[in-house]
Amino acid sequence: MIVVDENFDRKTSNNLGEWLDLHGLSEPRCCALLRAVEDDAMDNLSFSPTANWPGPLDPNGAWQRALAAMLDYFPERADSISRAYTGTHKVRAAGDIRAPRAMTVADGGDGFPTVYFSFDGGAASQMAIAHEFAHALQFIASGGIFTPPVTREICAFVGEAALLQYLETFSHSEYTAAVLVWRRDEYVYCHHYAAALKLALHEPMAKYNYEWNYPIARLLAREAKKNLSPDEVWWLFEGKEDLDGLMTALGY
Ligand SMILES: [Zn+2]
Repeated sequence: MIVVDENFDRKTSNNLGEWLDLHGLSEPRCCALLRAVEDDAMDNLSFSPTANWPGPLDPNGAWQRALAAMLDYFPERADSISRAYTGTHKVRAAGDIRAPRAMTVADGGDGFPTVYFSFDGGAASQMAIAHEFAHALQFIASGGIFTPPVTREICAFVGEAALLQYLETFSHSEYTAAVLVWRRDEYVYCHHYAAALKLALHEPMAKYNYEWNYPIARLLAREAKKNLSPDEVWWLFEGKEDLDGLMTALGY
């Protein structure tokens, strides 16, 4: 269910204090973000659709769908998106790896990232591919510069949100199934992972945990997509807007 891409980290934080510094986060600012995460999570629990996924049953179709969603959301960036799509190495993991585990490795040796993914033909696999393609796109758009993990995860969640928006327009039944996956993930990100971060905030020397990145990134991705133009969101992909600027723009 949850995408795993810790290996994308090239400059790790060792403890909570370093992680906060890396992201320009103070403890009060982080608490404010977590309160907003909790409020959103309460809102989301009220709706639980059930739906069958009639979407692409083969990985190529799912990748094409992720591409179409990004082109639809960022029509002005078609060149970068097409270049990232063509250059990204897409490696399907062996069948015994439980779908949709996936990860993106920043440079496959030729300047393009490699996405390792498993695929079971379901909506969660489709969401995982959209998530990882957005990671790959962010790497290409930024020229491979170091990007803090929360910002990388914001871009990946924008990829998932772009997929939802695309499906809402073009395929209602697929949209409903994908929303179900989004909401299941939301529970993990905004309850379990947010709780882990909340606990760690009382211990400045708490050992760094990649899961801390997800609840904040999830919140900021949703708010950025709702309140900012696609051009402004694209600056995050290019590394022209940092987390501090984004949080200020969104009122945190
Ligand atoms: Zn990710």
